[in-house]
Amino acid sequence: MEFFKRNHECKHDKFPPDKDIGYCSDCGELIENQWFIIRCSCCGVKHKAILKNGQIVPQEKFCHNCGSKNFIVERVNKINFIDINYAVLVKTVIPVENIRYTQSWSEPKETSNYTRKLLQQFR
Ligand SMILES: [Zn+2]
Ligand SMILES: [Zn+2]
Repeated sequence: MEFFKRNHECKHDKFPPDKDIGYCSDCGELIENQWFIIRCSCCGVKHKAILKNGQIVPQEKFCHNCGSKNFIVERVNKINFIDINYAVLVKTVIPVENIRYTQSWSEPKETSNYTRKLLQQFR
């Protein structure tokens, strides 16, 4: 059963990496491109990040600069051409419920502002 599931999981390969957020043309899920780099937690040197079993791990086991094996995963908001050599791209599925939730929060505010403006005009 698990093998069957994994076989049908969409890798969102057609979703372009230069887009921040959008819909996958294969499965219709909302995808956000998230870039991550890995730094040595000891000296701060950047390491090439790779995806292994769905986890972001450094390509090297030990830091080439200080020999430490402790690393920190860092999210990069805007990828640049220097970081792109180190970064790993994770195509993250954004649950649509989250977006509906934030929208329903902003709606009541807008209407109350609007009615306040109307009331001020009548005075
Ligand atoms: Zn997909
Ligand atoms: Zn180091």
